[in-house]
Amino acid sequence: MKLHEYQSKQIFAKYGVPIPKGRVAATAREARQIAEELGGRVVIKSQVLVGGRGKAGGIKLAKTPQEAEELATHILAMEIKGLPVRKVLVDEAANIEKEIYLGITNDRAARKPVMMCSAAGGVEIEEVARLTPEKIIKVHIDPLLGLRDYQARDIAASIDLPREHWRAFLQIAMGLWKAYQECDATLAEINPLVITGSNQLIAVDGKMLIDDNALFRHTDLAEMRDLDVEAPSEIEARKYGLSFIKLDGNIGCMVNGAGLAMTSMDIIKLFGGEPANFLDIGGGAGADKVSAAMRIILSDPNVKAILFNIFGGITRCDEVAKGILIAMDEVKPKVPMVVRLVGTNAEEGRQLLANANMITAETLADAAQKAVAAAKGG
Ligand code: GDP
Ligand code: MN
Repeated sequence: MKLHEYQSKQIFAKYGVPIPKGRVAATAREARQIAEELGGRVVIKSQVLVGGRGKAGGIKLAKTPQEAEELATHILAMEIKGLPVRKVLVDEAANIEKEIYLGITNDRAARKPVMMCSAAGGVEIEEVARLTPEKIIKVHIDPLLGLRDYQARDIAASIDLPREHWRAFLQIAMGLWKAYQECDATLAEINPLVITGSNQLIAVDGKMLIDDNALFRHTDLAEMRDLDVEAPSEIEARKYGLSFIKLDGNIGCMVNGAGLAMTSMDIIKLFGGEPANFLDIGGGAGADKVSAAMRIILSDPNVKAILFNIFGGITRCDEVAKGILIAMDEVKPKVPMVVRLVGTNAEEGRQLLANANMITAETLADAAQKAVAAAKGG
């Protein structure tokens, strides 16, 4: 789950990372009010869940509350990389002397979190990573020991951070690590971490990704989820405990098991088709889950055919068949449907579907070919 900048920075602040004073606003009038309260120059920042807002014109400085209102009006009407701006963060503007990058993510190859830091922070960090990767310092963190003081000092020295900032930098690095660890984040990033004209270190931007699988033990974080920016089908799927990801193709897939779902998508592609989604109904799915899954698949107007690939183990094929029948009754699908049932109660399942006007298949290759042909109107 992605957090907005304002949410990430609020979390950082709890862990002792200094952030600018400011608040989030949903209207230009509110933005003006906040600017009045803060006094002085403010920065108006679009809150959308993509990077590169600055370059896209979604970050603007305002000298007066009047200007803050005008800029907020403009930014709230923007779309950034396809995402509508619904909120702006109004922050006290920082007087920037230098921009540092500081982030933590998981290094899967090393099986450890890694802290990354660069003196060349700011909006060009992707370019820095591409062209001069040696300018980004990486230090692995032992997950049992946590970030050690000497490691943070080592980083400060490696980026030639002036001595006077070390104490503040250590506190920020430690705070970021604690936030990363305690929130079960997969990314915690400050870009830029700024040295101001008055020689303070302050996190001007913030980004956090939280591991979805850990949200059950972070109800406070789970509530931060921005439903506005998610596809309605994905919200619905989560409600039913389905793993669903919308894709751009036209063959809807309903499969049990993540590995089997990926295999099904691969084979669809092998035979020249494109999957419309990834969908794992999980083990032991009952009829209600199956019918929810079918409604979700069919809510996508691109779907021209559906492929059911069910390997009955804990999931019983007759339960799945019942779910399909219930869903067909409810949503009256007009697209051709190909079904492959194998395993527990497959025969009972097939009998239930015998009169349902579905295309049956024996093997996965057979099923995929039939689905591709059906989607092409063959
Ligand atoms: P991003 O483009 O989505 O990463 O958004 P950021 O919050 O990182 O802002 C982009 C850039 O805008 C920063 O790197 C800064 O150069 C600039 N910026 C952001 N906030 C301020 C501010 O308070 N004062 C000044 N002078 N520049 C800012
Ligand atoms: Mn940034």
